[in-house]
Amino acid sequence: MSPADALDRVVYLLDRALAESRRVAAYARARDLVRELGDDAIAQHHVDGTLGDLAGIGPSTGKVIALALDGGIDEHLTELEAETLIDVGEGTELRAALRGDCHSHTTWSDGGAATEVMAHTAMDLGHDYLVVTDHSPRLTIAHGLNRERLLQQLDEIERLNEELAPFRILTGIEVDILQDGSLDQDVDLLERLDVVVASVHSKLRMPAQEMTRRMVLAVASPHVDILGHCTGRKVVGGGRPQSEFDADIVFAACARFETAVEINCRPERQDPPEELLALALDWDCRISIDTDAHAPGQLEWQAYGCDKAARIGVEPERIINTLPADDLIAWTANHPTT
Ligand SMILES: [Zn+2]
Ligand SMILES: [Zn+2]
Repeated sequence: MSPADALDRVVYLLDRALAESRRVAAYARARDLVRELGDDAIAQHHVDGTLGDLAGIGPSTGKVIALALDGGIDEHLTELEAETLIDVGEGTELRAALRGDCHSHTTWSDGGAATEVMAHTAMDLGHDYLVVTDHSPRLTIAHGLNRERLLQQLDEIERLNEELAPFRILTGIEVDILQDGSLDQDVDLLERLDVVVASVHSKLRMPAQEMTRRMVLAVASPHVDILGHCTGRKVVGGGRPQSEFDADIVFAACARFETAVEINCRPERQDPPEELLALALDWDCRISIDTDAHAPGQLEWQAYGCDKAARIGVEPERIINTLPADDLIAWTANHPTT
């Protein structure tokens, strides 16, 4: 295995374990540097003992390079594979029934990998499609896409789909639900995209009544297909409390306007909590099990959402990403307007 491939695999495995981002970034930087310099130059640096002189190569990344060149990388990676392995428990059957992932990010916004790399990983995981849902313009901290950039992204996806068929990259967006319940992208674009995830990313602490109205207005839009990470909570580190809203009213609206409620699989979100998911089922909502992956390794996180769905008794027929791509697109294009 080449040093670059070894570093790339380490990045993948650390990402799936939600390792500290600085640590992952160090391996990613080293990988990019090694690719840039080329195998011969790196091998020469190793022979000369000058790897450590390269800006961007430290003791840990240097060790992976040395193991790849001298032998021993397989054992090292096998260990890391075992350490970062994601066990699918009671959700095994559901996971097998999923055909794609409806919420993912690329370097077009705040993701860490190109669309093509994300798509290849989704293929390796057995998916038929991946919906790319980069952020909308007002989420500037995440390099949200304005109209022009979104149109460029659509061109790229069209090109990639010619190469990757029969696998399909479906077009999408994670559109911000603005404070007044409106959506942060032009309606003609929302209409054109295959899948629209709508999420609250700002003013998470607004009073419950206002937040309820805000969310209901968004899910009532015929362009919105999935309500993303509905409570906004974070359960890792310092954490973040749930937004306050009347879940009965929001889920009743999701059911009425056929907007799926997302099980967001990110380990630090695990959103919605189980009791709210059960409530969404009481209201007969559709469900989408999505990773919200910002890196290839994170596409494996669907296992977490499948386990949760199985625990709560979500039937596969209720889950929109058990649908083949064409059926999914037919469903997203046909929401009731009243
Ligand atoms: Zn989000
Ligand atoms: Zn997202």
